Amino acid sequence: MATTKISDSVQVKGAVSDYLSGKIGRRSFLLRLTTVGFTAAAAQQYLELVAAPASLQAGDTNQVDTLLRGAYVITMDDQRQVYTNGYLAIRDGKIVGVGRDSECTFRGGETIDGSDMVVMPGLINAHNHLVQVASRGRGDDPRRPGVRPSPGRDDMQARMRNLVGGQIAEAVHWDEDRTYNMVRLHLMALLKAGTIGTHDQHFTNVNKRSIDGVLRAIDDSGMRALVARGTANHPDVLPQDLREDTEVGLQEVERLRSRWNSSRINVVPSPVAVAYIASGDDIVKMKRGAEAMGAQFEMELAGNTGHMVMEAIGWKGGVIEYLDDLGVLDDSVLGDKGHLLQDQEYQLWKDRGMKVCMVPTLRITDGLGLPADKFTDVGILPGLGTDSMVTPSGLWRVMRLIIYAQQMKDRREGVRRPEAWGYSERVLEMATRGGAWALFMEDRTGSLEVGKDGDCILIDGQRPYLRPNAESRRIVSDLVWSGESDMVDSVMVAGKFLMRNRECQIWDEREVVETAEKTLTSLNKDTGGDQRLPLRVPGQTVRGWKYL
Ligand SMILES: [Zn+2]
Repeated sequence: MATTKISDSVQVKGAVSDYLSGKIGRRSFLLRLTTVGFTAAAAQQYLELVAAPASLQAGDTNQVDTLLRGAYVITMDDQRQVYTNGYLAIRDGKIVGVGRDSECTFRGGETIDGSDMVVMPGLINAHNHLVQVASRGRGDDPRRPGVRPSPGRDDMQARMRNLVGGQIAEAVHWDEDRTYNMVRLHLMALLKAGTIGTHDQHFTNVNKRSIDGVLRAIDDSGMRALVARGTANHPDVLPQDLREDTEVGLQEVERLRSRWNSSRINVVPSPVAVAYIASGDDIVKMKRGAEAMGAQFEMELAGNTGHMVMEAIGWKGGVIEYLDDLGVLDDSVLGDKGHLLQDQEYQLWKDRGMKVCMVPTLRITDGLGLPADKFTDVGILPGLGTDSMVTPSGLWRVMRLIIYAQQMKDRREGVRRPEAWGYSERVLEMATRGGAWALFMEDRTGSLEVGKDGDCILIDGQRPYLRPNAESRRIVSDLVWSGESDMVDSVMVAGKFLMRNRECQIWDEREVVETAEKTLTSLNKDTGGDQRLPLRVPGQTVRGWKYL
């Protein structure tokens, strides 16, 4: 029989006061309630009761800033509730109500008619490099002659290696303003596709102020971001004068955190990947440095590239086992691209509580496919990322690509399944709450729940490619299998519209595009970066097409 002890009620009071004063987030609050005997459902109800009076102190209990009514609301909460005719109420940047429209008691400063709209959590791009927007379309360029490691080869992989090599070589020309101008364009494209948060791994820190341009653009955008500031110093990747000492890298991260960290932005150190950092010692130094400054940690951990390094250093196991042996794996680590590991390493990943993101595009271009099921089998829901470069900005396509990449892997290995791995609900979860979890943002965003920040996207369900939906039967399926970026009508972060009726509310869209064009022209002048791009202008014939 359940009894309440005095000590329990003291603990509940303490949790309530910590939650209301903002010391702890909703997840920690729920956890503390369950430790004194609340069931998960009871804790959730209690949270809703507590959250209401908290914002009520300001006056009218039912008055909110923005009220969305009559919409198809996909909450992505722990019970995965979908209100087929629902409402969402936002006050002071927080969600204060979500539920059946018939039960809505709120009045909105602004009330939005959500009929024919899908309202859901915003997408989170959980693996990305924002400056690489400058390489858009360059997957089509001919390979630069004489580039390692595949002389005489010109396929997608060779071109991508080529692009990364070029990026590092050109990094010295990226100053803060140029970076800002280019990154704004990338963020605007993400925003217009319904993305509210992004990862960024910035490893081209030859000019140390370049990353300030990245962070200034994110700060202006109103979006959320986890920015991993990379220290690269492997002799095979960088020439001597471009290699960075780990101590210098860590000091830079501290500088960036004090300048840019906020409720939306989180800068963390990263040794990039085992192929980019000189030694295990350097990785350990960086992890200890992250712990000392209270920061999380990030690394790209793809097994297919990692195993080459493991062979070179004579380590017999997998790359995850190697890092575990170094003592750097725990729940503050985002291991990006946990692709193609050894079988036993997925459970190790789970046991260490690490975050993970999948990037299917790469594993389709190299034809290897991607065993995302290895993570879901051990109970991990990964995030999804674009990895920019030659890949699309929209996560809607990536949701389909992860299904294809899994299928490719299954076919290669002759795996037959009684039930398909890839279905709409699963990949939508990956692109929203999976990404929020991967980027350490799950206390604030990733689902529509009372107490979380007022983040959501509105999708125009009238788009022809989202029809027919067969009496609503296929609304969710159509989003994943036919969804395109331009179905996103509006985007809100922390109660503020960043895009409304498809118009960016933060920047003048034309100015952003024109400035980025000019910036790329001036960069190319300095770097020679466009030399291998055929000039498609009158008088030229390129690949059999005549330009007049
Ligand atoms: Zn990457």
